[in-house]
Amino acid sequence: MIYADNAATTRMSDAAVQAMLSVIQQNYGNPSSLYTLGQQAKEILEDARQAVAEVIGADPREILFTSGGSEADNQAIRSAAALGKKAGKTHIVSTAFEHHAVLHTLEKLKGEGFDITLLDVHEDGLVRPEEVRAAIRDDTCLVTVMYANNEIGTIQPIREIGEICHERGILFHTDAVQAVGHIPLNVKDDHVDLLSASAHKFHGPKGVGFLYARKGVRLTNLIEGGAQENGKRAGTENVPGIAAMAAALKESAGKIAQNTPILAERRDRLIRGLRQIPHSALNGDETQRLPGNVNFCFEGIEGESLLLLLDDKGIEASSGSACTSGSLDPSHVLLAIGRVHDVAHGSLRLSLGEDLTDADIDYIIQSVTDVVTYLRSFSPIWRDLESGKKPHIL
Ligand SMILES: *Cc1c(COP(=O)(O)O)cnc(C)c1O
Repeated sequence: MIYADNAATTRMSDAAVQAMLSVIQQNYGNPSSLYTLGQQAKEILEDARQAVAEVIGADPREILFTSGGSEADNQAIRSAAALGKKAGKTHIVSTAFEHHAVLHTLEKLKGEGFDITLLDVHEDGLVRPEEVRAAIRDDTCLVTVMYANNEIGTIQPIREIGEICHERGILFHTDAVQAVGHIPLNVKDDHVDLLSASAHKFHGPKGVGFLYARKGVRLTNLIEGGAQENGKRAGTENVPGIAAMAAALKESAGKIAQNTPILAERRDRLIRGLRQIPHSALNGDETQRLPGNVNFCFEGIEGESLLLLLDDKGIEASSGSACTSGSLDPSHVLLAIGRVHDVAHGSLRLSLGEDLTDADIDYIIQSVTDVVTYLRSFSPIWRDLESGKKPHIL
């Protein structure tokens, strides 16, 4: 089996599994308890906070553990919105290709009286900092732009956007779920006030993540109850998950320099191979993208059929995001970069891990080529394109 869906989730690293097992078996105390077992758990929790903070250049007191990326996104945006509302500022700037955890939260806020500007994303899948600057108004309370897109892998000019926000004294949130543990980043250098991350995207367990909130940014609770996490997120902490997340992140972040050139070379080999398929196109900028991300559109086919046939060949990939697979709506990300409905339907995302070999890449290229050719052989859309009834777009 060739697993090429690391943007959806990753396999837990051995270090993460070991950390989790060790906590479950030996340190099962409640971190809020005062006896030794509880205090050991508390120590594990604070060591994890320190480790996570170090990786992104934060202070441990600026790290809040959550149930994952979605919760961190919700809390970051809700907090900034609450602060804005208090100051009479109810305008938020974001982009059309954010994750649904961001877009749906913004939609809810719209219903609560906030004004939301969603910036266009260009054909290259990149947000223009000048357009962020132009969208900012006197009543803007938050700018939220993702660090790297989960479908097309494009890496946004976060530092420039952060600088613009800070010049204007506006809070800046970034959904960095696809970036943390994959590319180097530093919240201070990037002028980030709020950042979301999720463990299962960097070889940690599912159901755990963290929110970075710069010192001085007052958070709003999504969950009320006990005084855990500095009173900002109630509920007994997921100590095994948090310990495993820290172990996974230390390892992933430590390997970025070593893995990036290898992954990027495989990615580029895959891109070159898939480009040989007629009427295909890479989605998103070729260089400003995550080292493991490849996303293509193929004219005249359905992404779902492509996925199922690739699965038969032992290749696990994705068409659009996991949250929208199963629905027949094309990906909002591909529509945002200007792909028309028909073309957006025929998309394929391959997100590579460090474990794949050149032979695996060549097998993927051959398999995708064969499956696309096969699907086109009985596609009525393809027949129309080839007969000239409809013009080719790609
Ligand atoms: C996966 C993902 C999320 C959601 O994270 P969960 O931990 O699964 O809730 C949010 N944003 C992006 C960009 C993602 O890729």
